[in-house]
Amino acid sequence: MLIRVLGSAAGGGFPQWNCGCPNCRGVREGTIRASARTQECVAVSADGSDGCVLLNCSPEVRGQIESAPALHPRAPRHSPIAAILLTNGDLDHCLGLLSLRESHRLIVYATDAVERGFTRGNVLYRTLERFPGQVTWRLLKVGHEDDIVDVDGRTTGLTAEAVAVPGKAPVHLEGRSPADPGDSVGFRIREARTGRVLAYLSGVASVTEAVRQAIAHADAVFFDGTFWSSDELSASGLGTKRAEEMAHLPVGGPTGSLAQLAGVRAGRRIYIHVNNSNPMLREDSRERAAVAAAGWEVAWDGMEVRL
Ligand SMILES: [Zn+2]
Repeated sequence: MLIRVLGSAAGGGFPQWNCGCPNCRGVREGTIRASARTQECVAVSADGSDGCVLLNCSPEVRGQIESAPALHPRAPRHSPIAAILLTNGDLDHCLGLLSLRESHRLIVYATDAVERGFTRGNVLYRTLERFPGQVTWRLLKVGHEDDIVDVDGRTTGLTAEAVAVPGKAPVHLEGRSPADPGDSVGFRIREARTGRVLAYLSGVASVTEAVRQAIAHADAVFFDGTFWSSDELSASGLGTKRAEEMAHLPVGGPTGSLAQLAGVRAGRRIYIHVNNSNPMLREDSRERAAVAAAGWEVAWDGMEVRL
């Protein structure tokens, strides 16, 4: 299995267009040790397969596809993207679907709640309904392992199991419908031939038993690295919400994910969906050193992980 990180930042990217925080300013000006990052999107392919599966579809998907030769078309109208999986309905995870509207059939795997949130009452979605069968939705059920096939039913060599993770509906749908366990999920992606497993949990509000089980013995784990601390935004005047209110467990501190997952038995452990305010983006920060000392890595755009 080959995992290519196309985008590793949280919503807004790094730097964020309207942010002049020390991180964003520093990366623009080249005065800090950190690299720019686009919003979260990851491509996964089974060995020997020329199709790949996108995990989330960011607003920057066009540029992300261009940045990866393996995702370039091989015929006048073609894409190696065989399927798209969505972890939740946050715009940084699904807005890119609307950018893939050029009369190309798509197959999208998501929970019922995420599908409804994206398609119902969304006049822009009509751009993906230009012809019958433009988008095929495959509804994922938590705890079920599904074969990931392309729009013509050909296997990608990968299966996906949706994992329940504590999360919430996207901001633009808050208050519209009751909370649903399918609002936000993670995935266990398994390569059928080798049995190798990628645990992909890019949005996690707390570590539950289900989260632990999803991670246990995975060959690689991608985990929510949005914030270092709960009050990261308010402390620097960037916002008022705490990390937990945004359904993101911080990385640092005594109850952070680094401490809670200290004993986890898994292969490569990588933080992704990193917000531009997070001090661990700086390669010479003490926060980055703490992450590295615990055996974790921080994803970057262009990172490849082979399992
Ligand atoms: Zn910033």
